[in-house]
Amino acid sequence: MLDTPKSLRLQIGIFGRTNVGKSSFLNMIAGQDVAMTSTVPGTTTDVVEKSMELLPVGPVNFLDTAGFDDVSTLSAQRIERSRKIFDRADIAVIICEAGIWTKFEEELSEIMKEKKIPFVIAVNKIDNVAPTETFIGNLKKKSPRILLCSSIDGDMELRDKYIIDFKNLILEILPTDFSTPMPLLGDLISPGGLTVMIIPIDSEAPKGRIILPQVQAIRDVLDFDAGSVVVKETEYPAILDKLKVKPDLVICDSQVVDHMVKHTPEDIPCTTFSILFSRFKGDLVEEVKGAAAIANLKNEDKIIIAESCSHHPNQDDIGRVKIPRWLNNYLKHSPNISHSAGRDYPENINDYKVIIHCGACMLTRNEKLVRIEKAKQAEVPITNYGIAISMMQGVLERVLTPFPEALAAFKESIGD
Ligand code: SF4
Repeated sequence: MLDTPKSLRLQIGIFGRTNVGKSSFLNMIAGQDVAMTSTVPGTTTDVVEKSMELLPVGPVNFLDTAGFDDVSTLSAQRIERSRKIFDRADIAVIICEAGIWTKFEEELSEIMKEKKIPFVIAVNKIDNVAPTETFIGNLKKKSPRILLCSSIDGDMELRDKYIIDFKNLILEILPTDFSTPMPLLGDLISPGGLTVMIIPIDSEAPKGRIILPQVQAIRDVLDFDAGSVVVKETEYPAILDKLKVKPDLVICDSQVVDHMVKHTPEDIPCTTFSILFSRFKGDLVEEVKGAAAIANLKNEDKIIIAESCSHHPNQDDIGRVKIPRWLNNYLKHSPNISHSAGRDYPENINDYKVIIHCGACMLTRNEKLVRIEKAKQAEVPITNYGIAISMMQGVLERVLTPFPEALAAFKESIGD
């Protein structure tokens, strides 16, 4: 409970040939055994994740991949999972050995460049074979950031030096989204100002707590020296009446958006957690255009409802029950709905007319942007649950008012 959520950590992919020392490299940085290491190729049986505070970089999550060249049993599945790490990694480390840069490492570096993933090349096991000037010179043509190390060196001073060198190289390639993250809502409120958050407590609400997007919103309000009143939708009108000052912003769960809009005077800005998260995690303009495309769906058009978590659906499940029902009521016909869950984002997205994605609170911004980019390349409109709900309830323009660019994009998309 004290940890930064994984979705807010810098994701560092560790790539390299089998037995090049990926796991022992991770152990060196972590200062503890987080992945089983051995000299038998293919020991890392799956992607091993390790979260830590890597000061002064900040909270990070290492993704230790199985070797793509692993030929042992069941490796095809492992290799597929490793490849998915490319979609998750904010930055990467390619580990090699002195004097050995094969077609495999070359392919890795080409993929990093193509996917615009900044990377460090770590030349490992230098206690065994020292790299030549020519070798280092050739590597520098692929990446200017080279780390020379030996992750099994017993000399603690040397190990400390490798770790410091590594951190400095990471700082050089730190993505701006991580070094200066955009606020979730802090730019919409003033210091000393007030927000109201409307949070329904229904059968989907977890027992004894509120969900991550709501927690993050409250934290952002505190970070920006403002205050917040948290209410259920049933108490909202009465509590709004009792306030002596006008709130800077009212925010609600999208499932009660029509109720919020109905009870919020025109001069009080209001929006939804889904809209805030679309801006924070992805691309609000793209996702409001995606919502507009729902209106053009024809009977039996294929759409996909994509969730980033796998959970057992309950009777009020938003993705499997509520959104299909809203679509049916709004369109007066039934689109052909498929579902995806977890990290299995479908490869065949051009089969669909629209993608309705969950709020992606458990994904990093980069992961969500990769999904949006795949949708754009396939020319399939993409939106998120809450934006779609607000559109189908006829209140999207009202809740987009704090975001003029997105509002203009939506109006243009619907020909207004
Ligand atoms: S399904 Fe999506 S919105 Fe819901 S908790 Fe998971 S990542 Fe967050």
